[in-house]
Amino acid sequence: MIKNFKGGIAVFTNPSTPIKCGGAPHKIMYLAVDYWRKKGVLDKCDIHYISGATVIFGVPEYKATLEEVLKKGNIKVHYSANTIGIDANNKTIEFETKSTPSSIKQSLSETTAACYSINEASQTDLANKVTLSFDLCHAVPPQSAPDFIKKSPLADASNPYGYVEVNKNTMQHSRFPNVFALGDCTNAPCSKTGAAIRKQAPVVVTNLLEVMDKQPVTAQYDGYSACPIPTQYGKLMLAEFDYNNKPKMTFPFNQAKPRWTMWILKTKVLPWLYWNKILKGTA
Ligand SMILES: Cc1cc2nc3c(=O)[nH]c(=O)nc-3n(C[C@H](O)[C@H](O)[C@H](O)COP(=O)(O)OP(=O)(O)OC[C@H]3O[C@@H](n4cnc5c(N)ncnc54)[C@H](O)[C@@H]3O)c2cc1C
Repeated sequence: MIKNFKGGIAVFTNPSTPIKCGGAPHKIMYLAVDYWRKKGVLDKCDIHYISGATVIFGVPEYKATLEEVLKKGNIKVHYSANTIGIDANNKTIEFETKSTPSSIKQSLSETTAACYSINEASQTDLANKVTLSFDLCHAVPPQSAPDFIKKSPLADASNPYGYVEVNKNTMQHSRFPNVFALGDCTNAPCSKTGAAIRKQAPVVVTNLLEVMDKQPVTAQYDGYSACPIPTQYGKLMLAEFDYNNKPKMTFPFNQAKPRWTMWILKTKVLPWLYWNKILKGTA
């Protein structure tokens, strides 16, 4: 669809729930924009990013880089915007938003007013409902734990998404000390990535063995996660961070800068590392 797109309204969505790889919904958008730029159709594209989040990225250093990419691609961003319906036949998307920035209203009224309607919230309404027509839509659905976990006693009753209730540092279940969990199914407030699992796995192994030895658990996971974000073809920002949304960079240079070397790392080195080392627990 991206290859065949010759201009029009392109919409990319990001739900308001935690998702697998928080960067994925906008990674594809940056690649699409770069593709359309190279093919000479970007000027004919009106691109919208409809996101349930309040910012493009939670770590200020990486956020600043991505805001530049959004600006360069002339991407209109709707934050705190929850997609509530997509009508594929009529090619419209409906979302709720607490507010539509005046800059976006202005640009929409200049360019795409016909396809964009805003029902302004009354004083009692919580949100505006917005309907936008599109020619291309890349939608990421809301996500939750699988039902067999959500409906089990392992789930965190206070978490609407039904994730396994763990101590975010030891990965031990908060109520069942003989249960540990790791990966996307837990309520640990980290970014759900394979990179996070790579750091959680040794913690779980150590703590599990300690419990079996009737010892107190000692290993701690600090929320490390990594999100390799291609900002265009051939350039990538390797965002690494922890629970405190502080950068935790592996390399001795500023990883907030998109680089060709990081693109090579992602496309050539990481797949090898994944299959040969990470899955075997040796990296
Ligand atoms: C588009 C995309 C891009 C991503 N990019 C990156 C990236 O660049 N870097 C990175 O580190 N991470 C990335 N991730 C995230 C990464 O893929 C996940 O964090 C990781 O796969 C989670 O592993 P997991 O084993 O916890 O869960 P999953 O991989 O979801 O595995 C859970 C398994 O349980 C199975 N299952 C479900 N229900 C049942 C049942 N009832 N019985 C038996 N089995 C069941 C499922 O079929 C599935 O195979 C990305 C994810 C997506 C979707």
